[in-house]
Parts: sequence; C-alpha cells; structure tokens
Amino acid sequence: MELPTGLFIDGASRAAHGGGRTVLINPADEQPFAEVAAADESDIAAAVESAHRAWEGGWRDLAPGKRTEILFNVARKLREQVDEIGRIECLNIGKPIADARDEAGLGARVFEYYAGAVTKFFGQTIPVSRGGFDFTLRESMGVVAAIVPWNFPFPIACWKAAPALAAGNCVILKPASLSPLTALKLGEIAHAAGLPPGVLQVLPGSGSAIGDALVTHPLIRKISFTGSTEIGRHIMGLAARNLSRVSLELGGKSPNIVFADADWQRAADSSPMSVFANTGQDCCARSRMFVERSVFEPFVERFIAATRRIRVGDPTDDKTELGPMVSAGQRASVEEFIADARKQGSVVASGGGRTHAKGWYLDPTVLLGVGKGDRCWREEVFGPVVAIVPFDDEAEMLREVNDSPYGLSGSIWTSNLSRALRVSRAVQSGVLSVNCHNSVHVEAPFGGFKTSGLGRDLGMAAMEGYTELKNVYVAD
Ligand code: NAP
Ligand code: MG
Repeated sequence: MELPTGLFIDGASRAAHGGGRTVLINPADEQPFAEVAAADESDIAAAVESAHRAWEGGWRDLAPGKRTEILFNVARKLREQVDEIGRIECLNIGKPIADARDEAGLGARVFEYYAGAVTKFFGQTIPVSRGGFDFTLRESMGVVAAIVPWNFPFPIACWKAAPALAAGNCVILKPASLSPLTALKLGEIAHAAGLPPGVLQVLPGSGSAIGDALVTHPLIRKISFTGSTEIGRHIMGLAARNLSRVSLELGGKSPNIVFADADWQRAADSSPMSVFANTGQDCCARSRMFVERSVFEPFVERFIAATRRIRVGDPTDDKTELGPMVSAGQRASVEEFIADARKQGSVVASGGGRTHAKGWYLDPTVLLGVGKGDRCWREEVFGPVVAIVPFDDEAEMLREVNDSPYGLSGSIWTSNLSRALRVSRAVQSGVLSVNCHNSVHVEAPFGGFKTSGLGRDLGMAAMEGYTELKNVYVAD
C-alpha cells in the first residue's frame, strides 16, 4: 500500500514550505507508521492563489458537459480504488475495514451524484410585474475551503469537494491532523482522472496553526466545515471579516425514541450500532435513548445483550464491527465522561472499561439513571457511551428531547403512523429516521438545527450552498 506523504498543491505532491511534518500513529497498536507534510501559512497562500488562478483560468467557465465528464471519471477511478482507500483509512484511524471500504464506495457515489448534478441545477425565469425578461443564474463562488474531521475523513471530504467542484468552484481541502491520508489520495486520484491542476488541493496541517490564515484569506469565498461546535463558532466569527459564506456541520446529542407500540425488539437489536458504530465517534450518534416505561426493562435487557454481541477488535479483520478510538486523547476525554457519570450516581449497566491492553479501545458503555443535568446527558461525548431513560408521557418526553442546544439527528420507533408524523414534526433536528437509523443519504439534505450547524451537505441543497444567486433583468 503506497501512502501519500506530501501536500497536494497545483497538481503535484510536495513537501511543506517550512519542512513541517506530522507523525501518524496507528490507533490499533499505538505504533507510528508514517509522516505527512504539515502546511504552514505560506503553503496556504500559495495554494489559495493557485486555486484562484485555476478558477479564473478555466474551471469556472468549463462547459458543463465537460465538468460532468471529468467528475464522472473521478468517481470511476475512486470506485477502482475502493479497497485501497479502505485499507488506508483502516490503518490511519482504526476504522473497521468493512466500514472503511463502504465509506470509500460512498465517496465514489457522491462524485457520481454531483457529476450528474452539474446539468440539473439551474436558475429560473421570473414574470416580474413590469414585464421584460427576468432570469436567475447559479454562479460559482471562487475558492472554497473545506475543513473536515477525522471520524469519517473520506466521505465527508467527498461530500464537500464534489458539490463545490460540480458548481464550478475550486477547493482547498484541509483534512484533520489525525487523518490526512485518504484526503491526499482523493487529490491524487482526482488529478489522475483529469481534474486540472489547482482545482482541488489538499493541505494537511494543524488547524490551530493554519486554520485562521485559511479561513480569513481574502480569496476564500466560502468555508465548509465539519467538526466541533467550538471550532465552528470560531470559524463563523472569523468569516465575518470578509463576509465569507459558511456552512457548518457540528456536534449532536441525538435522541432515539422508542414507543411501546413499536417493534421494540427490532429497535433494541439495531439501536446499539446507532450509537456505538465508529466507536461512537459520530455526530449523529443516538446517545440519548428515551424508551416508553412499559417496555423499558425488557428493552434495556435486550439492548445490552445486543451490545455484548458487538465484535470489538482488530480493525483489519473483516468481521470486526468496532475498532479502537482515534487517539489516546479522545479516549481519555470519553473516560472522563464515564467517571463523571459514576460520580453523579449513574449505573454502568454494561462496559465502562478498556477491552485491550494495546490500542485505544473502549468497551461500548450503557448508562442508566443519568440525571438530566449531568454532562453525559447534556454534552456530546463522541465515544461509545449511551444513556437510556424511561418516559411516560409523549409531550413531556418531547420537551426533554428538545431541551438541548443540539439538533442534528434522531430516530423514532413506533408503528402508529400519526404518531410518527406528529413526533417527526415536533423534534427539533435537521435529520430524522423512523423505524431505522439511517441519517445519511447522498440525495437528501444533511445538517443541523440550533448549535448543530448551519447550511446543508448532500442533495441539491449542497449545490445551493456552493453557488451565488444572480438575477438579470432585460428590458423589453
Ligand atoms: P475540531 O477541532 O473541531 O476539528 C475539526 C477540523 O477543524 C480539523 O480539521 C481541525 O484540524 C480543524 N481545526 C481545528 N482548529 C481550527 C481552527 N482554529 N481553524 C480552522 N480549522 C480548525 O475537532 P477535534 O478537536 O478533532 O474533536 C473535538 C470534538 O469535536 C470531538 O470530541 C467531538 O465532540 C467534536 N467533533 C465533531 C465532529 C462532527 O462530525 N460533527 C467531528 C469531529 C469532532 P486539526 O485536526 O489539525 O486540529
Ligand atoms: Mg480540536
């Protein structure tokens, strides 16, 4: 497996100007396995200027059919390399290989979708009252900065880059320091597939060191960010300087609501992976479970049994369902949450400790009796921890569901159609699933309410976010 190790600027791989490098450590065995260039501010400036030239010099004005052709070619090349991309992600962040491969395929699918979208996203003609001819255009913005996290590095990189490129923008992709490899691979593959130099550039580097320079660069017209609410807020503040556009996909504390009239056995069997998948490092994790009291006890028993069947272990094994956490620091932060819950009197009904001597593993943890003011109830844990509480009354439960600064995702389990529709309207979140846990569809908008975000990824909604709307009026 050949690992990319340079910055990807202007269609080529090269060292950072200042010689900076980041050591990557395999979360499954805690061993360093590669070093990758870390960009500094001068690399940012060079990349943004080259991207701007590539935009003005061609990508912006390329015939839509040609843009479609290139993006389809990128998708095709990504499909050919799904196994390789999956293996790299597995090594880099400890993601189970089966999931890593699926996510590589999802990235390819995203490019297919937006390759097709180039010619299906358009303006309108408007019958203005004074007559004449009025029409709107959807124009590209210029250079977009896409700043992405380490939990789903490849698909998130694709679902920002693909619509931005489809809309005619050039993209600077900044992966998380912990997970630069598949983003760099994307840059290489896209270039080999015919994307002109400068159109997509990948700059690994520390967010705290170069983030501000990237976000405030005067040629950056839009920042598309996925990560913590804290950094999202910081970026939005900085973006005010140039009135750059922002879209933010941030944290969550998503509910999973199980009514007694549901097929609650199916809910109990499937719900553990709605919070523990990706070792809980998922902004959509259903970390607050509300279960109607009449089925609470048998539900919890079955949920715990299903949790204990989850295969935690070597991420390179095809049968593994949960790998280690991404870093020692991330695990320590989750362990603090669990210690805090114990101190507050919560019951650890399953898990709570480490499962392996080597590697940043953490057992999927089920908490009962968590207080509504406790950290584990209110804050995003971003690890394999769920709190399950009973409820008696629908309206009161919904007040508690919505009593959160977050509003990203959630699941509702019921066999009553009216209730499913009523509760779907009442829950304040950007994405909901009924009788399943699927939050992400390439074709549908994805994003949050309240402090979970601003703007939407995926679907045609993402295309809107990467274009400016122009109105042209022509007199009779
Ligand atoms: P983070 O700091 O928000 O990182 C996300 C991305 O932002 C990374 O590429 C990061 O780069 C970059 N970044 C950091 N500081 C920046 C700045 N000042 N300007 C521009 N970009 C900057 O998230 P984290 O520290 O990795 O994780 C902390 C917590 O965030 C997690 O425990 C979790 O609660 C939440 N989180 C949420 C999501 C999500 O999907 N919504 C994803 C990841 C984390 P570096 O990696 O170089 O710092
Ligand atoms: Mg951070």
